[in-house]
Amino acid sequence: MGGEKILLIEDEKNIMELLQYNLEKEGYKMAWAADGQQGLKLFSDEKPDLILLDLMLPGMDGLEVCRRLRSQAGFTVPIIMLTARSDEVDKILGLEMGADDYITKPFSIRELLARIKASLRRTGPTGEEEIIRREALELKPEQYLALFHGQKLTLTPKEFALLYLLCSYPGRVITREEALQKVWGYEYYGDTRTVDVHIRQIRNKMEQINPEDTPIETLRGIGYRWRR
Ligand code: CA
Repeated sequence: MGGEKILLIEDEKNIMELLQYNLEKEGYKMAWAADGQQGLKLFSDEKPDLILLDLMLPGMDGLEVCRRLRSQAGFTVPIIMLTARSDEVDKILGLEMGADDYITKPFSIRELLARIKASLRRTGPTGEEEIIRREALELKPEQYLALFHGQKLTLTPKEFALLYLLCSYPGRVITREEALQKVWGYEYYGDTRTVDVHIRQIRNKMEQINPEDTPIETLRGIGYRWRR
């Protein structure tokens, strides 16, 4: 346990206390904000490694907080949304929002811990310089940099990881289950539509740069493939 710092933005004190107790027991450092404004301020002051963000907050809601965090240059901190409603999932994972993961209330501490660990592992330093080139795409995982036709693709950490996975095996089908395991890093409790949402976002972003070039192929009912 590296003593990573987690910023919790949550207005419900009992949830805050529950999480603080359990996460500190696991060796994490905690910072807590009870609303979005304070959360944004604490983010700059505390420089957390991960953010747990409640969707329903007084004043500025979780969607807006997420958007503002994401709009900061060079932002790569994983955000896990806490939500009471599973029908918010598309919005949460969507382009304008850019959360990396979500967990539906009520959640088990064990499940939350698994997701926190997976998110931190994914974004932690790899210590190796690596560049992947596939036709017009260039990935530099160390810097979370993705260039498509020479232009920067602004991706969330999960989108980046998914694109990285596809590019690592050009021509090979990546099933949605495999993507969940490799990118999300645990047995996912949600459904495979999470993968579809992320693929859609990646495609949208690539299309904005070059609508003619569509290197990610869909194999209906199976998964996705980077064309050979
Ligand atoms: Ca709340």
